[in-house]
Amino acid sequence: MNQANIIPYGRQSISEADIQAVVDVLRSDFLTQGPVVPAFEEAVATYCQVRHGVAVSNATAALHIACLSIGLGPSDWLWTSPITFVASANCGLYCGAKVDFVDIDPHTFNMSVVALEKKLIVAKIKGMLPKVVVPVHMCGQPCEMEAIHALSIKYGFKIIEDASHAIGAKYKGEPVGNCRYSDITVFSFHPVKIITTAEGGLAVTNQTELAQKMNLLRSHGISSTPSDMEKRPADEIWNYQQIDLGFNYRMTEMQAALGLSQLQKLDHFVATRQSIAWFYDQALSSVDIQTPWQHPDGLSSFHLYPIQLTATSGISQQTLYQELTQAGVNVNLHYIPVYRQPHYARLGFKPGYCPHAEDYFKSSISIPLYASMTSTQQHRVLELIQSLCLPKVLKRVVGAGL
Ligand SMILES: *Cc1c(COP(=O)(O)O)cnc(C)c1O
Repeated sequence: MNQANIIPYGRQSISEADIQAVVDVLRSDFLTQGPVVPAFEEAVATYCQVRHGVAVSNATAALHIACLSIGLGPSDWLWTSPITFVASANCGLYCGAKVDFVDIDPHTFNMSVVALEKKLIVAKIKGMLPKVVVPVHMCGQPCEMEAIHALSIKYGFKIIEDASHAIGAKYKGEPVGNCRYSDITVFSFHPVKIITTAEGGLAVTNQTELAQKMNLLRSHGISSTPSDMEKRPADEIWNYQQIDLGFNYRMTEMQAALGLSQLQKLDHFVATRQSIAWFYDQALSSVDIQTPWQHPDGLSSFHLYPIQLTATSGISQQTLYQELTQAGVNVNLHYIPVYRQPHYARLGFKPGYCPHAEDYFKSSISIPLYASMTSTQQHRVLELIQSLCLPKVLKRVVGAGL
């Protein structure tokens, strides 16, 4: 297959303005630790209607320092969804904490609030309540945050939203990332996500203390603010102090410039993704597959569009995956349940641990969706799926016993 004819499942949209923004920084005085990173942080925070933004090298780093700022440590538990990228769980392991998984809601693919509450009741009896719960806004569809927040008050855990898929999404009419129902929200700017900084991530919070802590941890735990520092002899020069054990998780000025420029197109990108998703919804309604259901409380940013095969779709998941890939449509699988990964299996997790996650894993395929996808590309994907799966009408006939 000619590389030019391959349709990826996701990709970035870069404009001349984006390129110019990066070039401008390259010609400026600062490539890192300059004025553009704070400007990007402020712009994202303003967009999300939240107080503080802390930009870092990637969302995995953001999840790590988010957990540390909340005080997650050895003997604590972090709970997340099994249908996510491994980073949502790994951040707990980085802190020495134990990780566990709450099964998904089969309609939204997000952490099930019912399963969460059941698990909390049992954990309370055993004295093993989580310190942090990480709901993941899967595909860009917001989780039921109001209900999760109510449980956090009842059971005393903190909430970090993994919104790697969901910048630009809305929950109950408000932007994901306003942290109305959480302590911290994390975004990813990897090229397949909604907006990109190449590599990059950002944590937002309304809590000044958490923002200060994350700010410190992303840069070695070093501060040069006099009020942060311990007293030292007046005849020694102490222009900075390392007051905590942090990391080098900083974002560069070029990345922030790209992010600032991309942010201006965020609403346009999301609207385009939504209209492609609605096109798929309509066009695929004639085929015997399940298109992603949308919860009425949310407005998804449609990072992903997973279709699900049923027993009557007329094709197996494996065959559909192979046929589409061979035809140059690079579909993907989001995700293998995290606890099935060899590293987690070694921690003791068994296949089948979260039944709804397993069903989803075995039936879903993410079809291409990105803002720069052309109408021709959309039709190519659609026509392939239509030719490979049975039409819905046949199912009714079969169902009627003919
Ligand atoms: C992409 C992604 C991450 C990690 O993002 P990076 O910026 O690549 O570190 C974390 N969680 C989810 C759900 C993701 O999709």
